[in-house]
Amino acid sequence: MMAARRISVLGATGSVGLATLDLIERAEPGRFEVVALSANRNAAGLAKLAIQHRARFVAIGDPAAAGDLRAALSAHPEIEIGIGAEAIVEAASREADWIMAAIVGAAGLKPTLEALRQGRALAFANKECLVCAGALFMREAAACGTRLLPVDSEHNAVFQVFDFERRAAIRAITLTASGGPFRTWSLERMRGARREDALAHPTWEMGAKITIDSATMMNKGLEIIEACWLFDLPPDRVEVVVHPQSIVHGMVEYADGSVLAQLSSPDMRTPIASALAWPQRMRAPVERLRLGELARLDFESPDDVRFPALRMAREVIAAGGPAPAVFNAANEIAVAAFLSRQIGFLDIAASVAEVLDRSQADTDMPQAVSSFDDVYAIDARARQLARDLIDKRATLRARTP
Ligand code: NDP
Repeated sequence: MMAARRISVLGATGSVGLATLDLIERAEPGRFEVVALSANRNAAGLAKLAIQHRARFVAIGDPAAAGDLRAALSAHPEIEIGIGAEAIVEAASREADWIMAAIVGAAGLKPTLEALRQGRALAFANKECLVCAGALFMREAAACGTRLLPVDSEHNAVFQVFDFERRAAIRAITLTASGGPFRTWSLERMRGARREDALAHPTWEMGAKITIDSATMMNKGLEIIEACWLFDLPPDRVEVVVHPQSIVHGMVEYADGSVLAQLSSPDMRTPIASALAWPQRMRAPVERLRLGELARLDFESPDDVRFPALRMAREVIAAGGPAPAVFNAANEIAVAAFLSRQIGFLDIAASVAEVLDRSQADTDMPQAVSSFDDVYAIDARARQLARDLIDKRATLRARTP
């Protein structure tokens, strides 16, 4: 019998984390063994998962949630508990064969880097890490001999049909985009879009941040950058097509005109299962694809005017330096402000553009990205610029009669 594959899940209580643990729960007994799990605030959810999966170590980021976690695990002294951001890094450092990086946002940078340094298999959902520090991450992965397994459905699709042995024959890759809830809305209507409108994604069930990113298509912008790093391609060879049914997830176009695509129902358990069992396959409890019942698959070009995020993403890759990390940080702050109803929907992309602009003339913005410390400094400074901008706008609005 094969030894159990030792698994850790960073961001266990989130949408991707839960889908990963659901697959582990359903797998044949003894195939997987859970080492460490992490969350930020959801103590009850983390404790439940730790007990269910007999995790050895759990880490919660927010110290305010420590009491609840300890209480929920009081009958389980065999489960070790860690508190604070450093404990999450420790969870990532516990020896495992396969680690899921599913923390949302740049908060995942340090733990994901620690997980990558184990030199085993790293399932990559936390795209913001590659956006902020793509060159550094890829260099570190190569140095540590880490196998990066893309989890984003589009990148996982491309990974499945990408001929790594014959890269020279690859002309371009295509990432599909559902178009989000505002695909057919006019710009004027989008101006009044509410939080609940933006959170109503037509095809995918995901965490709040990525759902808003899908509505602005910032998610696809982040994914273009992620794909450039994962597949070592320039941005002009990473194409995007809107495909509202979310059935075709990614495609690779070859020199002879062949286009190979991966198709599946829109359920994250397919790409996660593909990464979890890699290089084998495993059963996933997903709806079977019945193309006859679907009857049609539509494709259209993205609209750069209503969704400027795609153009911005291509500009920040071309600019290089701190720009991609600024882009990501400004977006994280803007999404949080939109979710707390501080700014309107169209203000998200507008404030990201303005922070990018301001960051160029900002003397406190580090310009070199030669270490992870540079990335943390850029991220912190960009967040400050974004918060200042949003607060000033809110004050102005409050003063306007
Ligand atoms: P969720 O918001 O559902 O979950 C995020 C997870 O990260 C939770 O476990 C949360 O803990 C934890 N977390 C949040 N903030 C911090 C922090 N500051 N420090 C440590 N942990 C933190 O996100 P998703 O699962 O939707 O997305 C996770 C990542 O995967 C994102 O990068 C996203 O872009 C990517 N992704 C997601 C897809 C999806 O279908 N959801 C598809 C493709 C990619 P707590 O619950 O305690 O707050």
